[in-house]
Amino acid sequence: MNCILELKKLEYQYPNGPKALNNVSLRVMQGEKIALVGPNGAGKSTLLLMLNGMLKPDSGAVWFQGEPISYTRRELMNLRKKVGFVFQNPDHQIIAPTVYQDVAFGPVNLDYTEEEVEKSVTEALMYVGLTGLERRPPHNLSGGEKKKVAMAGVLAMNPDLLVFDEPTSGLDPESARSIMELLDELQHAGKSIIISTHDVELAYTWADRIVLMNQGKIITSSKPADAFSERELLRDAKLSKPILVELYDALCELGMAKSEKIPRSVLDIVGMLNRECHRSGSCKPSGFIILADAESLTEDLVEKIVHNEAIKIVGGMGSVAKKQAEALGISLTYTHGVIDKCLLKAISGQNSLIITSGGMIKRVLSRVEGFNAESGNTIEVIPFSDYLQNN
Ligand code: ADP
Repeated sequence: MNCILELKKLEYQYPNGPKALNNVSLRVMQGEKIALVGPNGAGKSTLLLMLNGMLKPDSGAVWFQGEPISYTRRELMNLRKKVGFVFQNPDHQIIAPTVYQDVAFGPVNLDYTEEEVEKSVTEALMYVGLTGLERRPPHNLSGGEKKKVAMAGVLAMNPDLLVFDEPTSGLDPESARSIMELLDELQHAGKSIIISTHDVELAYTWADRIVLMNQGKIITSSKPADAFSERELLRDAKLSKPILVELYDALCELGMAKSEKIPRSVLDIVGMLNRECHRSGSCKPSGFIILADAESLTEDLVEKIVHNEAIKIVGGMGSVAKKQAEALGISLTYTHGVIDKCLLKAISGQNSLIITSGGMIKRVLSRVEGFNAESGNTIEVIPFSDYLQNN
């Protein structure tokens, strides 16, 4: 993995304010999902503002693509094109009278041609699911939609690293889930993502790496299961253990869990318990998952799905699949956490269809394979074309 951005020994004190960063070093690798976790005032927002040069450290250096940044106007422009920043409050970011103009602001300022601007805005709005809202005034949109406008504005510049200050704050659970799914999709498209949050549940289940901050310092930077096992550090930082870790600890004490791997999702916990029932031979027969590429779906194929009694559950993963399902009139049972939910159904003997596209097809296969290996299940993933041939 390449390092795309590095903070080296940063120190920062706000004018007439406290020391907000104290000897902070961090490497951000390509394709990584990092959650910066800590209590209020820990220095998370200050650290994020260093990533695209909005704040300049008192000492230390920020390195981008192997070079220290020197904070010239030109260099900052280049950095901000590559490092997209989405503020906690989208009202601080949205400036134009229509959604289209707002998303076009970055590309216009980067001197894209008219066609390039149109292409990048159209693609970015499609990605966040706001196609059709181009002419709306952003200030009349819901909180979740505004956040997506701000995201589209950043995506339109095709950055390598996306920085989100508290991505889900102020959003209802459905909008929050939708934003986090989008972040996952972006990571699958090769982007690196760093978020700040004080929501330990969200950080634990989403991130590849947790960077725990307290009083301006990074106190640990490790895999989620390791970071959230350090009870004393968590207590000092006034954070609680994620509920899944608490549950796992309790199951271990009861002798009901023996897995070496601490579960990161409800599915992991169910899989762990399911392994025991496989050993005793008391499990129900599993259902299967049919996997369809959204881009190869047509109306006649959809007819077959809709009238197929064996498939009552349909999940759509990713913006392309959701849009295609909508265009073809397919009603989606699941639009978030699709793989895990279909696996949970498969354990209880029910079949499902997952519609997705691009790199996410592989993700379904590897998640199911990993789950089978961990839990002792043999849930099958059948390509849609094979299923149609045989039914
Ligand atoms: P977090 O994002 O973890 O809540 P911040 O980075 O916002 O933490 O703040 C770190 C410290 O810097 C806090 O003590 C906060 O009060 C202070 N601080 C943040 N912004 C400013 C500012 N603009 N002026 C003065 N002090 C600030």
